[in-house]
Amino acid sequence: MNGPYRGRFAPSPTGPLHAGSLVAALASWLDARAHQGQWLVRLEDTDRERCVAGADQLILRQLADCGLLPDEAPVWQSERSPLYQAPLDELVQRGLAYPCGCSRKDIELVLASQGQDRPRHSELIYPGTCRSGLHGKPARAWRLRTDIFMPNRPLAPVDIKVVAINKGANSMVGWQDRRLGAQQQDVATEVGDFVLKRADGGFAYQLAVVVDDAAQGITDVVRGEDLANNTARQILLQRQLGLATPRYLHTPLVCNAQGEKLSKQTGAPALDTGAPLAALNVAAAVLGLLPVADNLGDALASWVAEWRATWLAT
Ligand code: GLU
Repeated sequence: MNGPYRGRFAPSPTGPLHAGSLVAALASWLDARAHQGQWLVRLEDTDRERCVAGADQLILRQLADCGLLPDEAPVWQSERSPLYQAPLDELVQRGLAYPCGCSRKDIELVLASQGQDRPRHSELIYPGTCRSGLHGKPARAWRLRTDIFMPNRPLAPVDIKVVAINKGANSMVGWQDRRLGAQQQDVATEVGDFVLKRADGGFAYQLAVVVDDAAQGITDVVRGEDLANNTARQILLQRQLGLATPRYLHTPLVCNAQGEKLSKQTGAPALDTGAPLAALNVAAAVLGLLPVADNLGDALASWVAEWRATWLAT
């Protein structure tokens, strides 16, 4: 670990909590309590178009109804823009981030000309068009170069050898997930140069989450498995910025009767926190914890003990 345990729950206020998001909230709270650490709540509202007015306060109320109270005042990413601009400027200055003038259509055309037609709605791997300049187009977004690895710390002699020999393979990121085990992703080939700041001027999730996890001294990220695929990008960014990498634990997802992940898009109903113990028991079952019918305080205490016995060594 990188210091005294600090965990967080970082919901995007795009709607109220549902049964799926409560699993991540409960797991991150339990992990913090089991480690006798601190638990923070961060409202990730940089994508203004996706946020719903009032959802932030509703989420905080739902968490409080469930007895999940943060140890520090919650923070809102929309109030922290200067914090994200400074590292972006640093990356640009070091030649690791660049402005991009491509629309989605432009990217699709280049990929098609390379014979790389992609199915609709899947993420496009950016072909690197604007790495060499904007070609007269106005800047729309800012992207991270994933083909150059330049960690923001002095390289030890052994690192220098690896960087020199592994040209092109430096974007391969491996990490040990506490639940999923060994993971790896080559960010350059599987994701490509990803966006740090969007065309609408908002900071992208990847940059904001990395900067905030470091600024808040987060040692352990516990979140839903649907976010596991973002972890390599975040670790790459941490390395380029010289920031510590937290430990990661990705929790099981909750699916609806059609087998789709519960989300606002799949019509997940808002969590009924009028009956918090019932809601928490459903989340606890997903995490493999035993049901508890007593009062809220006893239930949480019993799950902390169970969590400590199961997850503390990981
Ligand atoms: N705000 C992100 C979401 O709700 C989660 C961020 C994280 O836990 O890393 O999808």
